[in-house]
Amino acid sequence: MLTINPLAAFEDNYIWSLCQPDNPFCIVVDPGDAKPVLAFLKQQQKSLYAILITHHHPDHTGGLAELQQAWPDVRIIGPGAEQTKIPLLTEQVQQGDTVQLPPFQTQLQVIDLPGHTLGHIGFYSKPYLFCGDTLFSAGCGRLFEGSAAQLHHSLCKLATLPADTQVYCTHEYTLANLRFALTIEPDNQQLKNYQQHCQSLRQQNKPTLPGNLATEQQVNPFLRCENKALQQRFQQNTSLGLFTLLRTMKDPFKS
Ligand SMILES: [Zn+2]
Repeated sequence: MLTINPLAAFEDNYIWSLCQPDNPFCIVVDPGDAKPVLAFLKQQQKSLYAILITHHHPDHTGGLAELQQAWPDVRIIGPGAEQTKIPLLTEQVQQGDTVQLPPFQTQLQVIDLPGHTLGHIGFYSKPYLFCGDTLFSAGCGRLFEGSAAQLHHSLCKLATLPADTQVYCTHEYTLANLRFALTIEPDNQQLKNYQQHCQSLRQQNKPTLPGNLATEQQVNPFLRCENKALQQRFQQNTSLGLFTLLRTMKDPFKS
């Protein structure tokens, strides 16, 4: 079991921290900024054991140099395909690799998730999924480097994970995503209920994350492209066709 807490960074990033009650070590995911991580470690009196990186964007990697300076032996594990853009990686991984974390008596499976960036990866250890900027609650990442087909395929891979998977994405975009989702499926009652739930969390200043994969499959339009009624509504005959259209519609959407 892991205790997972969000460390807020920038406007709307979450750096996820992974701890265990009697374990002196901590792991963080996608530290775009070192400051909140250093403050958390000091407050918790933990040592930084490893850093997991999902992709090369600066809001996910900007804290690496300062964290490595403070913890010179820290393992920095990230996508081999983006190694030239993340030169501080100490371990390069890809689809099929298993990351062993002996002090936590756990291991992570690496999943290739191209689309938002070409080398984007996710880390999975039942029931936890760290998926960076690929899948968001009620939305998905923008296409900066890959094609719609690549991102669609990546999301289809994630959709095959168990229904109880906890989705630790890295941005608090949920309410804006829900406003778009409701323009796509205005009559989806689960979507309306989920919006109310998330609005109430945000009013209390609480994160809407992690998402839950079973819920995402009911509310996230980008995971619902197999739905024939939805395809018909947008005059598409394939899941990829609908996905591509939705991704194009979402880009200029002003919530
Ligand atoms: Zn990104």
